[in-house]
Amino acid sequence: MDFMLSDAQKALQKKAREFAIREVLPVAQKYDASEEFPLPVIKKAWEEDLLNLAIPTKYGGLGYGLLDSCIVVEEMSSACPGIATSIFDNNLGAEPIIIGGNEEQKQRILGELINDFKLIAFATSEASMGSDVAGMKCRAEKDGDEYILNGNKFWITNGGFADYITVFATVDPEKKHKGIAAFIVDSKSEGVRLGKHIPKLGQRASNTVAVGLKNVRIPKENVLAKPGRGFVLAMQTFAHTRPAIGAFAVGCARSAMEYSIDYANKREAFGRPIGNYQMIQEKIANMYKDVEAARLLTYKAAWEADQGMDNNLSSSIAKAFASDVAMNVTTEAIQIFGGYGYLRTYPVEKLFRDAKLYQIYEGTSEIQRIVISRFVMKQYEHALPSVFKRDRD
Ligand SMILES: Cc1cc2nc3c(=O)[nH]c(=O)nc-3n(C[C@H](O)[C@H](O)[C@H](O)COP(=O)(O)OP(=O)(O)OC[C@H]3O[C@@H](n4cnc5c(N)ncnc54)[C@H](O)[C@@H]3O)c2cc1C
Repeated sequence: MDFMLSDAQKALQKKAREFAIREVLPVAQKYDASEEFPLPVIKKAWEEDLLNLAIPTKYGGLGYGLLDSCIVVEEMSSACPGIATSIFDNNLGAEPIIIGGNEEQKQRILGELINDFKLIAFATSEASMGSDVAGMKCRAEKDGDEYILNGNKFWITNGGFADYITVFATVDPEKKHKGIAAFIVDSKSEGVRLGKHIPKLGQRASNTVAVGLKNVRIPKENVLAKPGRGFVLAMQTFAHTRPAIGAFAVGCARSAMEYSIDYANKREAFGRPIGNYQMIQEKIANMYKDVEAARLLTYKAAWEADQGMDNNLSSSIAKAFASDVAMNVTTEAIQIFGGYGYLRTYPVEKLFRDAKLYQIYEGTSEIQRIVISRFVMKQYEHALPSVFKRDRD
C-alpha cells in the first residue's frame, strides 16, 4: 500500500493550485455576488488543459484517471466551490459518453470537447423527481431509428450555456428503470428551451436552469443508451463522479480550516489569541482530522475506479462522509470567526453556503446512506460467527 502521490500527480496538483490561486480565488466573491456565469474562467481552464479531465488520450483528451481528477477538483474547489462545479460539470456531462458511447460518438463528441471550447451538461432530474431516478417522466418516443423527446428537466448545471446535454428519458414511466434511455442532445436542436438561471443559497457562480424539450428529434447517431440501459448508465456515471464530489467537499472544508487557523492565531479575546484556548484548538484538531479522513476516503473511491473495480459503495461512502465534513467544518469556521464569520467580510460565510450543496446534488446524503446500508445489511461478510451461533460457555 502506498499513500504517496506520484511525481506526475504532484505536478498536476501544483498546476491546479496555481491556476486556482491565480484565476479563481480573485474572482470568487465577485461571481458569488453577481451570480454571473464565470465563462472566462472556464474557458481559461480549457486553454490550460484543466477542463474535460477524464477524456481518454485515444480521443485527443488528457486521459487523467479519477484520482488525478480529484486532485485537480480539490484545488479548484478550495478557491471557489461554485466555479469548481461549473468547471467539473463537463466531466459529468461527458462521462456517460466515455462509459457508454459508441466509437463514432466518442470520436465526434469527445473530440469536439477537446478541440473546441464546448460545454456539456447532464440531465436526469426533473421538477417532480431527483432521488428517484427511475421515476422520471420525460418521454422518449421511438420513431423509426430516431427518438422524439418531450418533457422538462430541472436543476441542470451549466444548462443555460451548454452546447450539448446528455439527457435521460423514458419510453414508458410505468416501466421504471427498465424504460430509461439516454441521448446526446444538441442544445441548438429545434424544440430545446434553455431556461433562465435559478437563484440559489450557495455555489452561485454555477448556472442552474430548467430545460424544456418539445418534440425534440434525436437522430440515430445521438442515441447513447437504449431503453433499460440508460438507468445503469446513470448509476455508472455517478460512481465515477461521486468521488469528485468528495474532492469538492474536501477542498471547501480545507479552505474553511485554513482560514480558521489564520484567524485563531490572530484574533485576541481576554488578552490572548483565541487559538490559545483548548476549545478552539479542539475545533481545529477536529477539522484537520476530518479533512484528512474525507480525502483518504475520496482517494480510495477514485483509486478503485482507476483499477477498474466496482466503486459504487466506496463512492457513496466518500461522498456522504466528505459532504458532512464540509458542512461541519464550515459551520465551525463561522463559530471560530465569531460575529465576523456571519458577515460577508470574510470568506467563511460563502463556504458555509456553498458546502450545503454537497449533501444534495448527485444523490443526497440520505440516498448515499441507502446504498451503504443495503450493502452492510445484505452483503457485508462478517469476520466473527453470528451472535446467534456463538458458544456461550
Ligand atoms: C444546485 C443544484 C444543481 C444540480 N445539478 C443537477 C444536474 O446538473 N443534473 C441533474 O440531473 N440534477 C441536478 N441536480 C438535482 C439533484 O441531483 C437533486 O436535487 C437531488 O438528487 C435530490 O432530488 P430532489 O431535489 O428531487 O429531492 P427529493 O428526491 O424530492 O428528496 C427530498 C428529500 O427526501 C429525501 N429522500 C428521498 N427519497 C428518500 C428515501 N427513499 N429515503 C430517505 N430519504 C429520502 C432526500 O434525501 C431529500 O432529503 C442539482 C440540484 C441542485 C440543488
